[in-house]
Amino acid sequence: MQYDVIVIGSGPGGYVGAIRCAQLGLKTAVIEKYSTFGGTCLNVGCIPSKALLDTSEHYHNAAHNFETHGIELSNLKIDVKKMIDRKNDVIAQNTAGITFLFKKNKIDAYEGVGSFVDKNTIKVTKSDGSTEELKAKNVIIATGSKPTELPFLPIDKKRIITSTEALNLQEVPKHLIVIGGGVIGLELGSVYARLGAKVSVVEFAKSIIGTMDGGLGKELQRVLKKNLGMEFFLGHKVTGATAKGKKVTVTAEDPKGQAIELEGDYCIVSVGRTAYTAGLGLENIGIETEERGNKIPVNEHLETSVEGVYAIGDVVKGAMLAHKAEDEGIYVAERIVGQKPHIDYNLIPGVVYTWPEVASVGKTEEQLKEAGAKYKSGSFSFKASGRAKASGDTDGFVKVLADSETDEVLGVHIIGPRAADIIAEAVVAMEYRASAEDIGRICHAHPTFTEALKEAALAATANRAIHA
Ligand code: FAD
Repeated sequence: MQYDVIVIGSGPGGYVGAIRCAQLGLKTAVIEKYSTFGGTCLNVGCIPSKALLDTSEHYHNAAHNFETHGIELSNLKIDVKKMIDRKNDVIAQNTAGITFLFKKNKIDAYEGVGSFVDKNTIKVTKSDGSTEELKAKNVIIATGSKPTELPFLPIDKKRIITSTEALNLQEVPKHLIVIGGGVIGLELGSVYARLGAKVSVVEFAKSIIGTMDGGLGKELQRVLKKNLGMEFFLGHKVTGATAKGKKVTVTAEDPKGQAIELEGDYCIVSVGRTAYTAGLGLENIGIETEERGNKIPVNEHLETSVEGVYAIGDVVKGAMLAHKAEDEGIYVAERIVGQKPHIDYNLIPGVVYTWPEVASVGKTEEQLKEAGAKYKSGSFSFKASGRAKASGDTDGFVKVLADSETDEVLGVHIIGPRAADIIAEAVVAMEYRASAEDIGRICHAHPTFTEALKEAALAATANRAIHA
């Protein structure tokens, strides 16, 4: 065999898995159909969206919050081209980093579409049509996902767009309509709302970020409306969208079945992502994808029905998150060499990078209720945090859910400043099966936003929060 492992796809699942394989002494190749590595996350996902979120946050603060600090500005302007150029530069720095890491780890990289000839033979079809066959003992499929399209709503990539085009707009929309109140829609909606766009979110469910703890969605909706003027059409079923010239008309049915119409200049369709397997030749090795979501079925060790062929990341079941894909890449590499790695899928944190940020780990209150679990809940508002008062970020709260009898932390749900960073403490605590009192007894630096987690843990322990 030419290789011990071939990885198809260089997103966070694929590139991290390949590096771990190489670290473990496996001769490894990666096949990527695009000219840059890093997949969705680095090129059109996590990294570019965070670059635009950071730029728009600076702008929004300058326009609305600097004054309270006594900082005066005049002629504030946003140069959209420069913002997009900076974002592209951030992408370039990150993708170049992967090229460097591949070289450093002696991983062979092939540009082209990888497809199965048989379970040990992968054909690489390059952009000029030429092909090459590679052999490997093991193959890791890490081909990721693409935006889900609604069958009755064609994307024209100009006015009716997906997240990919939304990361490259050349102007601030006047009225941006976002279909879907999930993470991606709200992050991108926030970017343009902060830059001055009117943003309307149309969501079929009765709440935004519906998979997270219910309290978080309510608070986020309230704050996005208050701080950014975003409007929400919840319980609305989108029935179509048409673009004409510079206008987009979105039609929907309200909860009573009455038709409504929204007119804007751009519409982002962000209704989820679908696993991507086109061109992989799965039929040549007898793998069928699931009907719903097109995912590749795998067992608990992420191995497909074909021995030696694994699948990880967005293309398999579970949360469609970069860090979940990375952990699965490492898991499979270690399995291949006979180690016994472990992933606790209950402890994969989820983050929404709006401001305030939203972050969650473990069970939601709704899940605990449904399971009939006996739990207690402690909350702490950022309004009572000295650090939050100093920075002027007092929206939001921390909620700690703990087992009524053992006090073990079952879930932590945060909306507030730097929630994305605070959640790491909760993940560590829960990995070590900490009790709420354990967190409450750990010394937290003052003044920090993390004190809110300690206070919520104390509140859950026995209503012992100090500052509430
Ligand atoms: P991908 O990153 O999708 O990579 C798959 C790669 O495989 C691609 O490069 C593709 O070109 C390649 N490929 C596909 N088929 C073939 C083939 N046959 N041959 C060769 N190459 C092939 N997640 C987070 O955790 N945090 C965030 O903040 C976050 N923000 C996001 C923002 C946006 C706008 C979007 C769209 C997504 C975001 N995500 C975020 C999700 C995250 O990007 C994905 O979960 C992650 O990229 C999945 O990694 P992956 O390795 O499974 O696949």
